[in-house]
Amino acid sequence: MIRSGKRIIMSTTYDSLLSAITDPAGREILDPATGEVVGTVAFGSVADLDAAVTRARAAQPAWAARSDDDRKALLLKAADAIEEAAEPLAELLSREQGKPLNGPNARFEVGACSAWLRATAATALPGETVVDDEETHAELRYRPVGVVGAIGPWNWPMMITIWQVAPALRMGNTAVVKPSEYTPLSVLALIEVLNGVLPADVLIPVAGEGEVGARLSSHPDIDKVMFTGSTRTGQAIIKSSADTVKRLTLELGGNDAGIVLPDVDAKAIAQDLFWGCFINTGQTCAALKRLYVHADVYDDVCAALVEVAGQMPMGRGLDENNVLGPLQNRAQFDIVARLVEAAKESGAKVLTGGDPDTDAPGHFYPLTLVADIDNDNPLVTEEQFGPALPIIRYTDVDEVVALANGLDVGLGASVWSGDADAARAIAGRLEAGTVWINGHGGVHPMIPFGGVKKSGYGLEFGVEGLKGVSVPQVING
Ligand code: NDP
Repeated sequence: MIRSGKRIIMSTTYDSLLSAITDPAGREILDPATGEVVGTVAFGSVADLDAAVTRARAAQPAWAARSDDDRKALLLKAADAIEEAAEPLAELLSREQGKPLNGPNARFEVGACSAWLRATAATALPGETVVDDEETHAELRYRPVGVVGAIGPWNWPMMITIWQVAPALRMGNTAVVKPSEYTPLSVLALIEVLNGVLPADVLIPVAGEGEVGARLSSHPDIDKVMFTGSTRTGQAIIKSSADTVKRLTLELGGNDAGIVLPDVDAKAIAQDLFWGCFINTGQTCAALKRLYVHADVYDDVCAALVEVAGQMPMGRGLDENNVLGPLQNRAQFDIVARLVEAAKESGAKVLTGGDPDTDAPGHFYPLTLVADIDNDNPLVTEEQFGPALPIIRYTDVDEVVALANGLDVGLGASVWSGDADAARAIAGRLEAGTVWINGHGGVHPMIPFGGVKKSGYGLEFGVEGLKGVSVPQVING
């Protein structure tokens, strides 16, 4: 059962969930696999956003005044509510975003939402005594920031919303959420479920276009913005938040490098390499997007990846067999197609894929592996954010470290080797917020996550994530 304002929905079916968030006169949201209408949603104006911020501001003191145990208990109840509504949420996510139900996709994402809420409830940020001697007693404590604005993308819309709002709520902030215009239904449905257990106005969504996000990032009553999206929009948010000196956490994606050392067993690492690159059909901020393979194992790794790619069914998300889906929107399809064409024109070798059926419905782009490609090709230097992987040959470790560090972004990176010490030594030389060894992109609610360079700043998850939605206060005396 979920509670929707004054309405009570007796059982959370797909239809009841969708109807709770539907405005028949609203904007049509299309299934990226078929072009069919998934639902219609009211797009708010800047005035609607202002009204939501006023409500969230009014609700914040009472929310912050609740005991920590109370807020923890409500986050746990929210996790229960998500689990009860898991299948309808996953179906809606699959239809709207395009990702399959199975594989590390829609059901996985909904499961991550409840898992993150539970982990956030279990994480604490107690104050600490920093000096305690005969002359001085000083404590460092953490207070809520106030009202947090959360602006999210379309690739992992539910999970990233939870990443942004769970720590904010835990610390006594209220939150106003602006989903991507491509995936508002998923976020509205998630918040509908959460609001079945949360007090009124603690968590308010406002669907809308970029202007709503722009207002959120300049609004005088928003104290902190959590943003995940492109570097370009992140830069706009830095500028528009300057007058009000907002705190910012910016997760701006990247163009992650993976380095395969010559001692690997190509077949043994191929599955993990594959998912490191192609999770969510490549539409993941911390996916492996440039693969550097030592010349000694280059042909073996390419062959092993082609073999794994051939075993991965792509198609409509609701088909239980599929593990890869369409690109979420046409603009993203066009980016991937342009970059693969640039690679082909340069003489690079397409091992598989690279030839989409543009007459078929949906934004499907085939899994594409491109070998014998130069490091300065646009498919390498630009973030493709889709199922197209350039595989670059190298021979020298110093050279490959320089290539991996050669871009102005640095979210993640990975090193693949049977020799963990050798891999860790290289990892320490890479300019990235996270370096994985023999894996890529795995996140954990207790392990801090964030980028360097133009991938943004600020950490999410765990104790560091709680600090990010708090203001420190020193009590001296
Ligand atoms: P954007 O950065 O444009 O959008 C992300 C969010 O920001 C959306 O909710 C968007 O709203 C909102 N927004 C847009 N303009 C503003 C603004 N001026 N102020 C505040 N918020 C704003 O990403 P795109 O969806 O256009 O994707 C473009 C590229 O970004 C992709 O090709 C990919 O490379 C990268 N990307 C990275 C992601 C990541 O996980 N780091 C996720 C998604 C994309 P609206 O949708 O209404 O415009």
